[in-house]
Amino acid sequence: MSFSTLGLHASLLDTLAALGYSEPTAVQRAAIPAMLAGSDLLVSSQTGSGKTAAFALPALQRLLATTTAQGSRRAGPRILVLAPTRELALQVQKAVHGYGVGQRLRTACLVGGMPYGLQLKQLSRPVDIVIATPGRLKDHLDRGRLDLARLEVLVLDEADRMLDMGFVEDIDAIVACTPAERQTLLFSATLDGVVGRLAQRVTRAAQRIDIAASTARVPRIDERALFADDLPHKTRLLDALLRDTDIGQVLVFTATKRSAEELSGALCEQGFSAGALHGDMRQRERNFTLQRLRDGRMRVLVATDVAARGIDVPGISHVINFDAPRQAEDYVHRIGRTGRAGRTGIAVTLLAHREKHLMRSIERYTGNALRVAVIPGLEPTARPEWTPRPRPGGNGRNGGGRSWGRRAEWKSGARPASNRYRAGG
Ligand code: AMP
Repeated sequence: MSFSTLGLHASLLDTLAALGYSEPTAVQRAAIPAMLAGSDLLVSSQTGSGKTAAFALPALQRLLATTTAQGSRRAGPRILVLAPTRELALQVQKAVHGYGVGQRLRTACLVGGMPYGLQLKQLSRPVDIVIATPGRLKDHLDRGRLDLARLEVLVLDEADRMLDMGFVEDIDAIVACTPAERQTLLFSATLDGVVGRLAQRVTRAAQRIDIAASTARVPRIDERALFADDLPHKTRLLDALLRDTDIGQVLVFTATKRSAEELSGALCEQGFSAGALHGDMRQRERNFTLQRLRDGRMRVLVATDVAARGIDVPGISHVINFDAPRQAEDYVHRIGRTGRAGRTGIAVTLLAHREKHLMRSIERYTGNALRVAVIPGLEPTARPEWTPRPRPGGNGRNGGGRSWGRRAEWKSGARPASNRYRAGG
């Protein structure tokens, strides 16, 4: 199926051809015609499934149609996209400009952690599309800086995540400021529970589109698990992985901001071009770091969950969960940073033996088994499940494990052990 069958305007089709998009993804096939027909939509789709274009293209078409027909632009936003994080919001804004190239779009990105000055300037002019995080948008609404009375389309992107982050009241307050006859699209990894209740409040006769996690994601990402005995072993495994010549750019996830800083520092000391990305960094620093990653000047980015949302860098060949995600849902978002746009990717989750339950819950959630791998020479100490403690001098084999493929170069011993993430420590 080609994009031309979906009812999109010729200028948008030209842009898609120029971007090299030969055919719509599953979510685009289902959502674009429905959105063009004016339906409210509830879409369950994973990150990396092409969901941004699925809502951005029909939204742009709506602007295009009115601009050409009426030749006028109104003052308030006609399209509002709410996203959980700054990174995702900026990513969406970039995508919208990419898909709407040549359309003289006026967009404003209103996200927390950024100075008000530029945002107020953006709001002093007529704007077509606002992309925002809920907290900051609510703030602008409360101060009377923004009028949503003309809104035609409301998109809640990664709604599940916005609810996780405690934005429910802000979202309800924002929705209350929009016209009841708006079109509402809600995208989320899951449509159950609190998300379902939000959907009931904000949509009308919505059409439900379920894009199974498996079709959206699984074929593109090879998911592996490596068991580690302790932190020094885990650090050696990471070092070996990063020294593999087949690895392009890598996103490493840690559980805390502090670990992200420490680990990236240790990796820099070991000669890797590494950097950290976490919520305590100023937005300018975050943008600078992401730009270095995009330019290919940084090879390893060590990040926390929230900071990494929305990262879309095609060179990321591997995602390494240095700390296993506590929530299976986070796992899906993390690994979705690789295997973007039809490429393949590898996701490696490092697990302590006692974290086997996390692996099981990930497998239950995704319906997809993680392949247990080993790096020759860095096998975990064998530990039968019924034995509570490690057996000193185990046989060094993780029974049934899958070899990483080749012996990774590993230089041990020579470094001082002052940092807990030092590979030789
Ligand atoms: P998203 O899920 O919206 O974050 O999109 C994931 C990636 O897929 C982005 O890099 C998009 O540029 C890319 N993409 C979206 N739709 C298509 C398509 N139909 N063909 C090829 N790449 C696409």
